[in-house]
Amino acid sequence: MGDRSRLRSEALAGEVRERPAEVRLHPDPESVADFLHDESKLGGSGIGSLAVPRTVGALRAVLAWHAHEGNRVAVSGARTGVTGGAVPENGAHLVSLAELRGVVRVDAEGDPPTITVLAGTSLAELNAHLAAHHPGLAFPVDPTETSASLGGMVSTNAGGARTYRFGAMREWVQALTIELASGRTLHLTRGRERGEGGVLWLEDDGGARALEIAPIPKPATKNAIGYGFSPSGDAIDLWIGAEGTLGVVSEVTVRLVRAEPGRLGSLQFFDRVEEGFAFVSALRAARELDVTAIEFLDARSHALARDSGKPAVDRVLQQGGGAACSIFVEIAFATEDDLGEIAEGLERMVRQAGGDPDRSLAGATEGALRDIRAFRHAVPERINAIIAQRRERHPGLHKIATDMAVPDEALGWVYRRYQEVIGRAGLDYAAFGHVGNNHFHVNILPRDEAELARARECYAILAREVVAHGGCVSAEHGIGRIKKGFMAIQYPPAVLDAFRRVKRWADPQWRLNRGVLIDP
Ligand SMILES: Cc1cc2nc3c(=O)[nH]c(=O)nc-3n(C[C@H](O)[C@H](O)[C@H](O)COP(=O)(O)OP(=O)(O)OC[C@H]3O[C@@H](n4cnc5c(N)ncnc54)[C@H](O)[C@@H]3O)c2cc1C
Repeated sequence: MGDRSRLRSEALAGEVRERPAEVRLHPDPESVADFLHDESKLGGSGIGSLAVPRTVGALRAVLAWHAHEGNRVAVSGARTGVTGGAVPENGAHLVSLAELRGVVRVDAEGDPPTITVLAGTSLAELNAHLAAHHPGLAFPVDPTETSASLGGMVSTNAGGARTYRFGAMREWVQALTIELASGRTLHLTRGRERGEGGVLWLEDDGGARALEIAPIPKPATKNAIGYGFSPSGDAIDLWIGAEGTLGVVSEVTVRLVRAEPGRLGSLQFFDRVEEGFAFVSALRAARELDVTAIEFLDARSHALARDSGKPAVDRVLQQGGGAACSIFVEIAFATEDDLGEIAEGLERMVRQAGGDPDRSLAGATEGALRDIRAFRHAVPERINAIIAQRRERHPGLHKIATDMAVPDEALGWVYRRYQEVIGRAGLDYAAFGHVGNNHFHVNILPRDEAELARARECYAILAREVVAHGGCVSAEHGIGRIKKGFMAIQYPPAVLDAFRRVKRWADPQWRLNRGVLIDP
């Protein structure tokens, strides 16, 4: 047994037999209503208890008590997740990390520089701390919703627009503190604990358990589809994207980058989607540009934005009225002198792709980009408003939003298939998202229950085809409770069994987040 392959967990000093004061037993569902759902709008019906610890010590005591009682434990962070992973199973004991917040330390001189925060700290709080105290440093992962907690972002391997340039959470996590289902604590550091001889040992209650590291095949696209090892066999990777099923993350250390002096944002309109994709290919090939994000909106998204009635959206669409799509590109630059050259390069690429650079909007300051931001945000807002309206007549209705990514060469193909499959089913939909990663959030807006059923069928057909083309069923939102059915599309049965072995290794009684990601 090599030392590096041994994960040594620490026990809490003293046994916890008395219920900690933080644990509120059998709370009235109304008083905890906010804790029973996340942004998936899936709703839990009731919980055995609620604990919202404010210190790591209190969290450990709560988990140790649940372990002593043999309770099922559900875990939530900021509940901005969209796949129901933070929604507690009926009767489970909910532990919310929402109040476990704060910056523990910043190592600004480290190589690499890092920041360590308590897991409930939001991305907005982390960014604000850096801006106020270390303006030269930045954290590059940006899953749009900045109220998300760092623990939740680790647990879903969150991505976002800038994943194009910086990758998802996995690439930035340097160290984690994990509270195991047994109530014991693990400290993991990237590069320190690794499977050796194909085995990882976990020292937990009742001795050491061995996990044979079976390779878990993952598509080359960005993905958030359950447990995985990086090629180095680093143990820490098992807990990234584990959706709270292997332990509770209590402390997170992430790497930081030197903040870029500036970013240019530019929105380009195209009359044919193929022209937009040609522009995307040109951006990918332009190695001289530091492109940080490439985003897409289709014509239906433009129309939805227009319906929001916002003056900022009208100003944007005056430039791009009638276009088949728009592409937003963000480019980092070192000095303002670089801007002229970048703008010229962009114009050339737009022309070569068949577009007209005179229809573009661009800016290098927050103020200048405000209209573009309002335009992009108006689309999901409008979709949510339409669905909310339709729910008045059809209470069970919800949108179906895809989160699949494909390899570069399949970009045009997958877009056509969305049009064919969803269009043929007569459904209303808008496609937008992270085209730089070949990752669309296609939002289907069903008008009634029959359309909702058809939308689900379309999603399943497309998921099978995407996987057959080397893609993944979830690129950044995770599997949670609502996409579990897609695991059998993504993986063969032997891989799902390997997942179950990982789960039993870390949580033998299957007490943590039961019903999330994988079933026994
Ligand atoms: C408007 C909007 C836009 C979004 N855009 C993006 C995007 O661009 N990219 C993207 O990746 N996501 C996006 N999301 C989804 C969401 O913000 C991310 O999934 C985020 O990482 C969830 O963090 P959270 O703290 O809200 O986690 P929660 O929703 O509370 O939980 C998510 C999962 O993580 C587990 N979990 C939470 N905290 C812990 C912890 N401390 N320890 C162990 N397990 C834990 C939960 O059990 C659950 O399974 C978006 C959401 C919204 C509402």
